[in-house]
Amino acid sequence: MSAVEINDVVKRYGALEVVHGINLSIQPKEFVVLVGPSGCGKSTTLRMVAGLEDISGGTVSIGGRTVNKVAPKDRDVAMVFQNYALYPHLDVAENIAFGLRVRREKKDVVNQAVAEAAHILGLTDYLKRKPADLSGGQRQRVAMGRAIVRKPKVFLFDEPLSNLDAKLRTHMRAEIKLLHRRMEATSIYVTHDQVEAMTLADRIVIMNNGHIEQVGSPMDVFLEPANTFVASFIGSPP
Ligand code: ADP
Ligand code: MG
Repeated sequence: MSAVEINDVVKRYGALEVVHGINLSIQPKEFVVLVGPSGCGKSTTLRMVAGLEDISGGTVSIGGRTVNKVAPKDRDVAMVFQNYALYPHLDVAENIAFGLRVRREKKDVVNQAVAEAAHILGLTDYLKRKPADLSGGQRQRVAMGRAIVRKPKVFLFDEPLSNLDAKLRTHMRAEIKLLHRRMEATSIYVTHDQVEAMTLADRIVIMNNGHIEQVGSPMDVFLEPANTFVASFIGSPP
């Protein structure tokens, strides 16, 4: 069974259709990267999987269950955003714990989960700090902490590293891949950066203008681009 199944999914904003019926089947433990130019529909697609946008047509299934009408908190997913979306007035522990708030877990269950997440992410010594007193990389780890306390089957990443400098970005990329393996999760990762896509992906999905141009391993897409758009976007040899 697929971990995530996207069937003929369409998104319209009023009269404007921005995702034109896309199909994608993602296997458990796969790391799939959606890549394409700005405005091509990557975030919209991811947000429909997360339940943050209504689906105008088609179906999204997670773990074999159609989730079109299922609230975000009841989908087995957790999303990590570009802008971190941390609460400035809460400390690191409270920010991480927020991932569990909506579930009304008991306090000791929450504390245990926060301690585990902090350990995995190297944040144990920073639990009492406020976001303003953290580096960019630490803030991004807190955002990931909030996602992993939920122990989701599926991680959704929307350009999580775009605000970081190049060196840190390379480092955090490796951390995200390790986290994905360690959590035995399925990941869908959105980026406009071809290099990031090529280094992270088990399979790469190239989007353009609200549709999918090609799906394949990074090598396949690079060596055998389906069309001139893919070739020039990926920088394949002529
Ligand atoms: P990407 O993440 O690939 O940069 P998006 O999924 O954010 O692209 O956007 C896809 C298209 O949908 C863009 O043309 C964008 O302007 C449009 N769009 C996104 N959100 C809205 C909205 N709330 N209302 C109208 N159009 C939107
Ligand atoms: Mg986007």
